[in-house]
Amino acid sequence: MFESLTEKLGQALRNLRGVGTLSEENMAEALKEVRSALLSADVHFKVAREFVERVQQQAVGQQVTKGIAPGQQVIKIIHDELVRLLGEGTTALSGERPLKVLMVGLHGSGKTTSTAKLGKLLKKRGYRPFVVACDVYRPAAIDQLEILAKQEELGFYADRVSKDVPAIGSAALAEAQAATADCIIFDTAGRLQIDQDLIEEVKRLRARVQPDEVLLVADGALGQEAVNVAKAFHDALQLTGLVLTKMDGDARGGAALSIKTITGVPIKFVGTGEKTADFEPFHPDRLASRILGMGDVVSLVEKAQETIDQKDAEKMAEKLRKADFNLEDFLAQMQQVKKMGSMQSIVGMLPGMSGMQLPEGADKQMARTEAIIKSMTFQERRKPEILNGSRRKRIADGSGTKIVEVNQLLKQFSEMQKMMRMFKGGGGKKMMRQLEA
Ligand code: GDP
Repeated sequence: MFESLTEKLGQALRNLRGVGTLSEENMAEALKEVRSALLSADVHFKVAREFVERVQQQAVGQQVTKGIAPGQQVIKIIHDELVRLLGEGTTALSGERPLKVLMVGLHGSGKTTSTAKLGKLLKKRGYRPFVVACDVYRPAAIDQLEILAKQEELGFYADRVSKDVPAIGSAALAEAQAATADCIIFDTAGRLQIDQDLIEEVKRLRARVQPDEVLLVADGALGQEAVNVAKAFHDALQLTGLVLTKMDGDARGGAALSIKTITGVPIKFVGTGEKTADFEPFHPDRLASRILGMGDVVSLVEKAQETIDQKDAEKMAEKLRKADFNLEDFLAQMQQVKKMGSMQSIVGMLPGMSGMQLPEGADKQMARTEAIIKSMTFQERRKPEILNGSRRKRIADGSGTKIVEVNQLLKQFSEMQKMMRMFKGGGGKKMMRQLEA
């Protein structure tokens, strides 16, 4: 998310970071670059202009705090302005249980996927979610939601015969109540463009089910176009929040930065990948830190806490300490990490690495490693030293990889074991001393 903006802002601010005294020239120079970074991230030009003006006013008027480099103070101002732009205040869902959420948006925006993602997230928060397919025009959309609901073990309702959307809504509410669900998410029909029929249909459904939230799912990769779409939907439907999808990949991020200012509607969630785990509540302050290359360790830790089993983690740590970590443990660890989402989305949360783009296929590489280990017998995973030439060939064939890849993995693993043994034997301290020297 925001890789290129992070990189460009990083460049613009690099010169300021170490500056002892701020002159008008170096400020003006840096702010010009900030403005152009925002514009090339597809931020609305008015928003970019106001942003720079506000930063300038505050930087000029500020007291120089002792002990803090002026350059750092400017970065703090930019951080706070970014938070303001992304939307201050709470982005939590409002409403008592049963919580009713209407998802609206155009075709292909990621509405159905986001419906399941939101269900999964709320389930983790202790809700009993129920998802409802209200797209009566595309049977494929109903199937898609049903598959995702099954996968995430969410309650599901659809009516493949009726075309009466409000009636489907009422029936779904009754079903959800019977299933003791306390959160009902309606996936509505999309259109290629916003049109009156679509709006009327959503309005009728809304009148019937009385949702607590009406969330627009907008494709963040569309940049300014997403902002226009959001404005049109908000004018017609009075949205309560936004879900910005496809913020992974090469999304330039301009939509996220302009949409609140232009529409007044807060972003509540962002989609960062195709997997159902690639979905995050929107935290303006954390994202501002991420954009400024400071990482977002808080979200990373939260994600880890949600997905990684604490007992397993302790067991693994113990194994690592005792240097008794075999390939089977390695596989288990890899599977845990995968549950947290794509590698790119994880790396983006690390301080100093937010702008880093992983090489194409990092996730595929992980899948190949996984296939190699899975092609080994349990004994081989526990004692890789028994892997002779013919076993390695069998594993390469079985996993659809090459012997060199198997060899490479085993070599890496053996290096890792050596390191673990060094730490186990009290070599850790010695090694640290060496590193410090
Ligand atoms: P709908 O027509 O609005 O219901 O859209 P879908 O939910 O069917 O999504 C359209 C496509 O976008 C699918 O291929 C999804 O996998 C993909 N998609 C949805 N959300 C995201 C996201 O956050 N990131 C990426 N990369 N793809 C997404």
